[in-house]
Amino acid sequence: MILAHARARVKNARAGARRNCGQKIQWHGNMQHPPPTYPAVILKSGRDKSVRGRHPRLFSGGIKTIEGRPRDGDVVDVRANTGEWLARGIINQQAQTAVRLLTWDESEDIDDDFWRRRVKQALERRARDPLLADTSARRLIFSESDGLPGVIADDYAGCVVLQISTLAAARAKPVLVEALASLLSPRCILERSDDERLKHERVSAARGVLFGEPPAGPVEVFESGMRFQVDVQAGQKTGFYLDQRENRARVARYCAGADVLNVFAYTGAFAVCAAARGARSVVNVDSSQEALRMAEVNLSLQPAPGCAVACQAADAFEYLRACRAQGMQFDVVILDPPKFAHAPSQIDRAARAYKDLNRIAFGVVRPGGILATFSCSGVIDPALFQKIIFSAALESARDAQVIERLTQASDHPVLLSFPESEYLKGLVCRVL
Ligand code: SAH
Repeated sequence: MILAHARARVKNARAGARRNCGQKIQWHGNMQHPPPTYPAVILKSGRDKSVRGRHPRLFSGGIKTIEGRPRDGDVVDVRANTGEWLARGIINQQAQTAVRLLTWDESEDIDDDFWRRRVKQALERRARDPLLADTSARRLIFSESDGLPGVIADDYAGCVVLQISTLAAARAKPVLVEALASLLSPRCILERSDDERLKHERVSAARGVLFGEPPAGPVEVFESGMRFQVDVQAGQKTGFYLDQRENRARVARYCAGADVLNVFAYTGAFAVCAAARGARSVVNVDSSQEALRMAEVNLSLQPAPGCAVACQAADAFEYLRACRAQGMQFDVVILDPPKFAHAPSQIDRAARAYKDLNRIAFGVVRPGGILATFSCSGVIDPALFQKIIFSAALESARDAQVIERLTQASDHPVLLSFPESEYLKGLVCRVL
């Protein structure tokens, strides 16, 4: 009803303007453009709070009716139960997140220029970020945090890896690629849209070359002055864990003269930083043999004389238990496990796994040593994570002090209206 009324108003205004000019409507700079209108998603009464709070996800449970028969992937206006315009986004009725909200400005249209503008803004933010000055590997677009839900774009020295995880982003893919290509002039843009979340959106996975020539082998990047090989085509995620960049540099400061155990090492990035900071020895443990092969290469790329390096393909839990059983201890233990909880329903099970892992790890830290422990499960918040680590310390009969709290790197910004964008947390504990 209300929508029909609004549409009629716009139509009448246009017709009036046409009548007045006696010809096709012409909008002048000082005249207000009529806001675009789209099929409308009307919220249930009292379910408008999160949209007003600029949360970028609208769940199907909050919707009363949908007017105008939009198809999945179409732009829709979101209105309160009263008909008041609230936001605009892209609908996907196959998904639990029924609308990906893109703008809270009624005059802003979701057209090609919209996507280009958002990409440009994201790139400009990175270009101005002083924390990214010393790296050629960075996240250019971090999904909702950059106003582009479901779009990840990582740049590895001119080789851009794009990862799409929503229908909204899949629809915009051609213009996103065009914008990245024209603004960055990259060597190539590769697609690696294989995220689990695509299934929830009923979008099929996609891989391939979207622009330019793919590299023949790994790409070399630098981070904090150190060199790394990144396998952008077959490596995990988009090839490298960029979110830990700042934490690697921070944890490395504890590693001078230390025996370091780097658990969940992937391609050895923490180990490289530790070795460069004067570690006496570094042991890398990971279940992936391929990742460890790359870790060996990365460690050989920078001179760290005097640092003994070992790589061990093993299950982290088993390796740590074996160390404990043999009485092996280290000055610094780094734990950077994969995501244990993907949804709130998995929190309890994941909390037990984090506790077990950390309990065993506390047992292999020398008195006065450091445990740098991380969780990238967004559903486990920093307060819960600290409680889990406390339980682990208690059960292993070790006292510990938190001396640093760590989070994701600045190219993975936390959007205040979307607290879910904060997912990585780390505690540097001094183990007494
Ligand atoms: N610290 C790394 C990133 C770690 S990502 C960095 O800074 O680059 C998590 C790693 O855990 C992956 O490399 C994965 O292969 C490894 N992994 C997953 N499950 C494991 C297990 N049970 N035991 C050992 N490694 C595991």
